Amino acid sequence: MKIAFIGLGNMGGGMAANLVKAGHEVNAFDLSEDALAAAKDNGCATFISAAEACEGAEAVVSMLPNGAIVKSVYSADVIGKAPAGAVFLDCSTIDVATAREVIGAAESAGYEMVDAPVSGGIAAANGGTLTFMVGGSQSAFSRAKPVLEAMGKAVIHAGDAGNGQAAKICNNMLLAIHMAGTCEAFAMAEKLGLDPQTFYDISSVSSGQNWSMTSYCPVPGVGPQSPSDNEYQGGFATALMLKDLRLAMEAADSSDSAVPMGARAAALYEDFNGAGNGGKDFSALIKTY
Ligand code: NAD
Repeated sequence: MKIAFIGLGNMGGGMAANLVKAGHEVNAFDLSEDALAAAKDNGCATFISAAEACEGAEAVVSMLPNGAIVKSVYSADVIGKAPAGAVFLDCSTIDVATAREVIGAAESAGYEMVDAPVSGGIAAANGGTLTFMVGGSQSAFSRAKPVLEAMGKAVIHAGDAGNGQAAKICNNMLLAIHMAGTCEAFAMAEKLGLDPQTFYDISSVSSGQNWSMTSYCPVPGVGPQSPSDNEYQGGFATALMLKDLRLAMEAADSSDSAVPMGARAAALYEDFNGAGNGGKDFSALIKTY
């Protein structure tokens, strides 16, 4: 299949390479020359504009920083430029409203499109083990699925347009809440005289058990290997967690949802990020307790 790929950064670079490995012909575009050079090394054909990359493409995949960029790229260079009948897959993490707006514009022009944000970081993008949560019509989902399967281990239909983004931000809001709670509990346990490993041994088989504790423990040397064992390097950057929490707070406002715990977690991550910790893994929040 001939696939245009727009946005070859930390995530998109590896995803485009996996499409090539799966036998697809990939036409790549990015504003960064370094990203384009790396894509070329990985077997992509490179283009000087998104519109040119879209010529003759049967599918267009994008992995871009935010909703404003996704909207401008699709309106200027994809809709009306890609052949009639092409299917569009936006894998960026963006706000639900913009995802629905861009899909609406694509559909009005006769295209099918899904929002397909991912769970999993750069290692999963490189290794082809991302999880995709997909919003869009059944027909758009069926066409997008084989393309996504070449880049991931799981592809889940979340419902109509925008529901992929809704699943992503609700999941990440919950992740921030249980990470903050896990940090809090370990810090207090220690102040009360409990050894962290002993607290882990008890809580990980009791009702406080959760993913932040048993798969991603914020305390170094406790639980399976995680970024806390590597000075909080790698993993899921605080700045990216904050991006998702801001999107979650926007969605809470627009849907009139009460999110007192999510709002508190967002405030904690705003402060932590503002103190110069944006590049550290989000589990480093434990240092603030
Ligand atoms: P990145 O900044 O590394 O890559 C984005 C790329 O888009 C850059 O190479 C940039 O040059 C390019 N770009 C920007 N504007 C463009 C335009 N108008 N036309 C073409 N290219 C353009 O970001 P990333 O880490 O790859 O993240 C991409 C998306 O994936 C974001 O929405 C992010 O929230 C999401 N995400 C990232 C991670 C992660 O761990 N990095 C995990 C899950 C989801």
